[in-house]
Amino acid sequence: MNSPPAGTLPMHEYVIIGGGIVGLAAAMAVGKQYPKARVLVLEKEQDLAKHQTGRNSGVIHSGIYYKPGSLKARLALGGNYSMVKFCREHHIKHEVCGKVIVATKASELPILENLFQRGLNHGLAVARLSPKQVQEIEPHVRCVAGINVPSTGIVNYREVSAKYVELIKSQGGTVQTGARVDRLRDVNGTQVIETSRGEFEAGFVINCAGLFSDRVARFGGFNTSVKIVPFRGEYYELVPERRHLVRSLVYPVPNLHFPFLGVHFTRMIDGSVHAGPNAVLAFKREGYHRTDINCADLFETITFPGFWKLARRYYREGLTEMVRSVSKRAFVENLRQLVPEVNEDDLLPAHSGVRAQALMRDGTLVDDFLIVKGENSMHVCNAPSPAATASLEIGRFIASRLPKVTLPRQSRRIYLANQQICRVNDVA
Ligand SMILES: Cc1cc2nc3c(=O)[nH]c(=O)nc-3n(C[C@H](O)[C@H](O)[C@H](O)COP(=O)(O)OP(=O)(O)OC[C@H]3O[C@@H](n4cnc5c(N)ncnc54)[C@H](O)[C@@H]3O)c2cc1C
Repeated sequence: MNSPPAGTLPMHEYVIIGGGIVGLAAAMAVGKQYPKARVLVLEKEQDLAKHQTGRNSGVIHSGIYYKPGSLKARLALGGNYSMVKFCREHHIKHEVCGKVIVATKASELPILENLFQRGLNHGLAVARLSPKQVQEIEPHVRCVAGINVPSTGIVNYREVSAKYVELIKSQGGTVQTGARVDRLRDVNGTQVIETSRGEFEAGFVINCAGLFSDRVARFGGFNTSVKIVPFRGEYYELVPERRHLVRSLVYPVPNLHFPFLGVHFTRMIDGSVHAGPNAVLAFKREGYHRTDINCADLFETITFPGFWKLARRYYREGLTEMVRSVSKRAFVENLRQLVPEVNEDDLLPAHSGVRAQALMRDGTLVDDFLIVKGENSMHVCNAPSPAATASLEIGRFIASRLPKVTLPRQSRRIYLANQQICRVNDVA
């Protein structure tokens, strides 16, 4: 990774906080839009794409689920196309394998039909499937009806992110890892960014901090009025001998009032087949295990008025998810509604991810992407699934709304803290 030069650090016209796929896509798009600007990404971890981006299902979503007219629908539909094109152009392993969404009971048929109509309205090449036609695509699936969504694909978003980094650097941008942003100060219209690697200066700050985006916004005195509530998604993996049970992607009919898609089967680009994710409240923002607790994170969640309104509204779903989290049998029972041949011995625990889900004070889960602009900052307050699919479009959306920032080419500040860090590194 790029280390800051010893001595002074140059100022940057644009600083992006967060080295996940959204921050990296934004940095790439900003660099393209303003080729002369100095663009810097600050990431707190030593590795990039370590959180949501590196712990997801790896699906290039089609856009079928999203409300017509929403930002999510627009950027996901465009994102599906641009992600596949990007992967082709840059030789990133991917596959447009399509997926089936299936109703397993008659009561789900109206929702399936709604989804089908939504797909048509979005201009997708969706097709209704009889149970027999579903079995021609996925021989082990049992259902009462299905729809085929051929434009859905699979990819590894870590690989996509690595390519974004390469392109950012080739455009002259810098990516600084191990730099946790702790505070933002506005000094005469310039943003001073206090980090664990010293201070940086920016004309404009773009907050893409994912699970911490609300806190980073608050560091800068920006009130986004939403709280990030972390929802862990746990996966199991089919043992290799049983991978043949699923050829590509098999999804249930979703609960349209809930922003999660329900546990499904996903063939990953490496050939493994994952089942999940569920959606349980995490007691830590980056809490990937059931036992992970961070008192400050938990306190922040439960003292937010919206949380209790949400809990009252969805306590049944919440309890079901918690049972599925602690009981493999319950998890498998759910999967057997899609593929009845699956049994407990076929599944091994796999990775988990934590979703950054924005919640409003009235208890509403923010469904759409939410990007808010301040005077010299922009905050990505809600970028849940399918933000990885839509990342190129989100990046372009952000870049197209930025003011042109012009700063003197000379550095104005001497960053003593960084000088010290660089000297230590030099000696080592
Ligand atoms: C279980 C799960 C499954 C999903 N499946 C899919 C899917 O199949 N397809 C799809 O399109 N989307 C999917 N998503 C959604 C997708 O992964 C996310 O929407 C996307 O990765 C969000 O990217 P991001 O850059 O906003 O967040 P992140 O990837 O979380 O990146 C944010 C970065 O900010 C850094 N950061 C935070 N605070 C600071 C700070 N103070 N200073 C510096 N850096 C900081 C973090 O370390 C992190 O690297 C899934 C998500 C989850 C959790």
